[in-house]
Amino acid sequence: YYNSKTVIYLDGEFVKAQDAKTDLYGQSLHYGYAAFEGIRAYKTHNATRVFKIKEHYDRLQRSCELMHIPFPWDKNELIKQTYRLLEINNFKDAYIRPLVYCPPSMSLVAPTESSIMICAWDWASYFGDKKLKVCISSYQRPNPKSTYVEAKASGHYVNSILATTEAKSKGFDEALLLDMNENVAEAPGANIFIEKDGKLYTPALGHILAGITRATVIELCKVLDIEVIEKAISVDELKAADSVFFCGTAAEIVGVHTIDDVVFRQRWNDSIGCTIQRAYKNLVLEKVNYEVII
Ligand code: PMP
Repeated sequence: YYNSKTVIYLDGEFVKAQDAKTDLYGQSLHYGYAAFEGIRAYKTHNATRVFKIKEHYDRLQRSCELMHIPFPWDKNELIKQTYRLLEINNFKDAYIRPLVYCPPSMSLVAPTESSIMICAWDWASYFGDKKLKVCISSYQRPNPKSTYVEAKASGHYVNSILATTEAKSKGFDEALLLDMNENVAEAPGANIFIEKDGKLYTPALGHILAGITRATVIELCKVLDIEVIEKAISVDELKAADSVFFCGTAAEIVGVHTIDDVVFRQRWNDSIGCTIQRAYKNLVLEKVNYEVII
């Protein structure tokens, strides 16, 4: 992720990644009490553009508010410094990871101070037609009565790591987690859409992270005149789908080949997912102008 030249942004300053330090007594390290974002920059024909940067910093602020982590920063300033960070490191296609973390404390009370670091690394855009072999995880997504599932809180990713590790150990590419009601929720780091009879379905908010890519897919569907229905989706409905895809900042739009032993037979090139994949690619690379919707 970094080398001896890499620079990160840390509480208002640019510092070498290898010189930056954190405290071993930090509440974030011990309890996973922190919030973060995953953002992507694309080299477009104009310049490097950070896709939906405002939406990501808005979500970071919201995550902090929900988790009672102070967020004293000006978001426009963070946006400016994010672009500066890319420039300093000479990153064009990159993944950007802001993290708000807590000072040293072993207390179980939310902190009164916080720090922000923003790091980034080179990450070429990838829109391959690889399709994933997915298993339904034995782990459920966190219960919305136990935490704020709509917060992108570090501790929630314990669940994501368990599910991904299980899926990989069984020979699958990716996990799909159900919610506490045994309905379809999301992948460890991506949302899900299913296609049935020419319409898209996606789990309603409540048990999932409100993905920025999910919202983008819904916007694209408006432009493309594809109906999207947000509702609880049972495993039976999932398995009867014509095609399935995951979406997320890192995953972009990726097709699902199988879930457990169910093969989705529709050719990827004929699926709505493939149309959305093309449209999403054009949007992030600014090859088309969908300004009316973004
Ligand atoms: N769900 C989870 C659990 C995630 O970690 C992510 C990645 N942030 C997503 C969905 C997709 O969100 P986004 O489209 O905002 O990247």
